[in-house]
Amino acid sequence: MVDPNGWDRDVSAPTGPQHSPPDSFVSQANVSDADVYATFEDTWPECWERAAELLEWDRSYDTVLETADAPFYRWFDGGRLNASYNCLDRHVESGRKNHAAIRWEGKHGETRTYTYRDLYVEVNECAAALRSLGVEEDDVVTIYLPMIPELPIAMLACARIGAPHSVVFAGLSADALSTRMDAASSEYLLTCDGYYRRGDAFNQKSKADNAVIDLDQDVETVVVDRLGEDLPHVLGENERDYHELLEEFYGETVEPVSRDADDMLFVMYTSGTTGEPKGVVHATGGYLTNVAWTSHAVLDIKPEDTYWCAADIGWITGHSYIVYGPLALGTTTVLYEGSPDYPDRDRLWEIVDRNAVDVFYTAPTAIRAFMKWGEEYPNRHDLSSLRLLGSVGEPISPRPWEWYHEHVGNGDCPIVDTWWQTETGGIAVSTLPGVDEMKPGAAGPSLPGIDARVVGAGGEPVEPGQAGYLTLAQPWPGMVKTLYEGDDRFVEEYWRRFSDPEADEWVYFSGDAARVDEDGYITVLGRVDDVINLAGHRLSTMEIEGAIADTDGVAEAAVVGRTADSSDTEIYAYVSTERRVDDEAAVRSRIESSIESAIGPLALPEAIVFTPELPKTRSGKILRRLLEDVANGEELGDTSALRNPEIVGEIQSASRE
Ligand code: ATP
Ligand code: MG
Repeated sequence: MVDPNGWDRDVSAPTGPQHSPPDSFVSQANVSDADVYATFEDTWPECWERAAELLEWDRSYDTVLETADAPFYRWFDGGRLNASYNCLDRHVESGRKNHAAIRWEGKHGETRTYTYRDLYVEVNECAAALRSLGVEEDDVVTIYLPMIPELPIAMLACARIGAPHSVVFAGLSADALSTRMDAASSEYLLTCDGYYRRGDAFNQKSKADNAVIDLDQDVETVVVDRLGEDLPHVLGENERDYHELLEEFYGETVEPVSRDADDMLFVMYTSGTTGEPKGVVHATGGYLTNVAWTSHAVLDIKPEDTYWCAADIGWITGHSYIVYGPLALGTTTVLYEGSPDYPDRDRLWEIVDRNAVDVFYTAPTAIRAFMKWGEEYPNRHDLSSLRLLGSVGEPISPRPWEWYHEHVGNGDCPIVDTWWQTETGGIAVSTLPGVDEMKPGAAGPSLPGIDARVVGAGGEPVEPGQAGYLTLAQPWPGMVKTLYEGDDRFVEEYWRRFSDPEADEWVYFSGDAARVDEDGYITVLGRVDDVINLAGHRLSTMEIEGAIADTDGVAEAAVVGRTADSSDTEIYAYVSTERRVDDEAAVRSRIESSIESAIGPLALPEAIVFTPELPKTRSGKILRRLLEDVANGEELGDTSALRNPEIVGEIQSASRE
């Protein structure tokens, strides 16, 4: 593994000018008292009880944190609860049954609203239906659905009967689905006939069929009819139509199964940016506590808000911040089926405007696309309902941060740049929007109750400004419980590197590189392996990318190393420009001067290749390992994680020019 500590220059923070949250925001914020940091630190781990109070427990826990089997920690040990009860029943019972729970925005402009009562009714029917198929507590149910209401309904139905769900992102292949079902010995599958991709009907069921054929176990399949006449389908043996099946259980209710806090709520696979996806297991009590608390403290969600996280439920962001966190708090969560540029590039802003969205949460890849398309699109709509903006998934550099702030947030919405992972379950590093100054380019400090540290190879804290490994020195409630049937790999992957098992000292290693400033603000620099060795100098590709991305006219950039004939390493930069740019030569020379001044001539690329898009994973992250293969003229590695495979050929020929 590369040692970021060996990077031979201080990485001076390329953060932009600071911003303070406006008074109007602070005065209404869920958390606005700066003492929260000290209080949590002084009372750790009991501080997390404050978060657990956001939930309703069937049985109160005996211990906040049980450490006997570390790093297999047990949070809220002895406590019992049900996640579906917490997301539904208690809101229905407390007189909020007619409050909107989900506002669904379909691909072709269709909309559907589910009140808490509607959602409660359908989740109960779905739970009864699943039971009738034979699903028992602890059976893993696989859900392979696009962004339609049946997806969160199926998740909550599983949670209700104590059956862990495994949601597989709908855009993944038959192979990916069968691998995941096989790994979890899952005998139940919820899928659909198909869905609309841009304008076209796209067949999902044939993918599901191919996956099931590959499996040894018998599978009971439930099929949601999403497309009707647009894509007729026939049901085979062991296949039921979702709506017909639910009709058999019309009006039925199912007692929520009281789950041990440590019982598994779901398994979720990581997005596979760095290699083989990992099956991350989350426990019920700690996870739900963590996502409810961060939804409250970081995303500032109120029950009366309309909140929109424009991610896909097929990834952790959607699990935590479209489904479980917002519904636990009883808010209205928007579910969007379509893409940001269909039918036009103002689609998201049109939805914000029409629904008067209060809080909007998206990824840097989307923000960079908005910037590339231009401000005319957000300008077409009234976005004044927005109070807070969020970003997650990759580092966001100051320029897109400022663009988002100005053109979407009208200059007065705080932005939370939230660092977290499938494994952390919830946000771990971010500013508290009602408390902290924002520094564009830096995510922020560790949240209260979390101890994120940037350390050197020996685990010692690095000096401010120096790069190191991003670790979490204390357990936290939303933490990965284990890897599915992979206890050894769990310890190996996350705990081996910086822990001292002899002394029973456990430190979680994130796999990311970061630096921290004098105020404790953390800037994530990317994966520790994304480092180029240039004639003995170690440079983070992220930093060079940051310098490129800060150039006027650039929308996004990816940098990889290429081994030259002399066996020296050369830098290859792949760049896509904003739409308004028509003079690539001018951008090229601006990029060069930006790199020279930010890092030095050493980091000047051998080649700057312009491309309309960069290759992205299906979760929207730049797939650098593929560009590295292209730059090196090698056989391309596994491309199944790619969302836009067609771009690779274009980049290959552009690289040869
Ligand atoms: P895999 O683990 O399979 O390689 P992945 O790490 O992309 O996939 P996720 O768990 O979805 O899968 O992504 C978490 C990673 O995303 C983090 O480790 C970090 O690299 C990146 N990330 C998330 N949020 C931020 C952020 N705000 N700033 C910088 N990086 C972020
Ligand atoms: Mg990861």
